[in-house]
Amino acid sequence: MYITCLDMEGVLVPEIWIAFAEASGIPELKKTTRDEPDYDKLMRWRLGILKEHGLGLREIQEVIAKIDPLPGAKEFLDELRSFSQVIIISDTFTQFAQPLMKKLGWPTLFCNTLEVAPDGEITGFKMRIEQSKLSTVKALQSIGFETIASGDSYNDLGMIRASKAGFLFKSTDKIKADNPDLPAYETFDELMAAIREAMKD
Ligand SMILES: [Mg+2]
Repeated sequence: MYITCLDMEGVLVPEIWIAFAEASGIPELKKTTRDEPDYDKLMRWRLGILKEHGLGLREIQEVIAKIDPLPGAKEFLDELRSFSQVIIISDTFTQFAQPLMKKLGWPTLFCNTLEVAPDGEITGFKMRIEQSKLSTVKALQSIGFETIASGDSYNDLGMIRASKAGFLFKSTDKIKADNPDLPAYETFDELMAAIREAMKD
């Protein structure tokens, strides 16, 4: 029994904070975990910037609604979901992902949640579990699933390596070079073919 676990940002949709920084005209929000590896610190800093600009959840969702999934992502997901259960596992937040999930036809998404005050101000955030991608894949395996996983970044390597089959997708040259044993694909057609092939076993 197979289940496919996909990363979201960089695979199905653009990096939300980078796209948000561009759409909102707040360039300092382009700072990512590559600049500040402490995710908790980075998120608190981001929430401070949003507050400074008077952006509550509703304004943020309006900006995110202008961001589109990567070309072909919806068609890829629709086809994949016709023959496999699919879970998108992401380190983002349900409320940020919502406008993009709508455009993707509401696939299943496991991520984190923002704490939002009644007036819409984002007051904090709650991370679901440590190493959420690897932990989720292991939990799925513990209930009888074989997992197939794909993602583009460092935080995807755990679930990719722990899965029956795992693929890098639209990854960086550095990550591909550091992980020469992992198949790496650039197009949805290649990824679809690899997933279908893995499910033949
Ligand atoms: Mg990613």
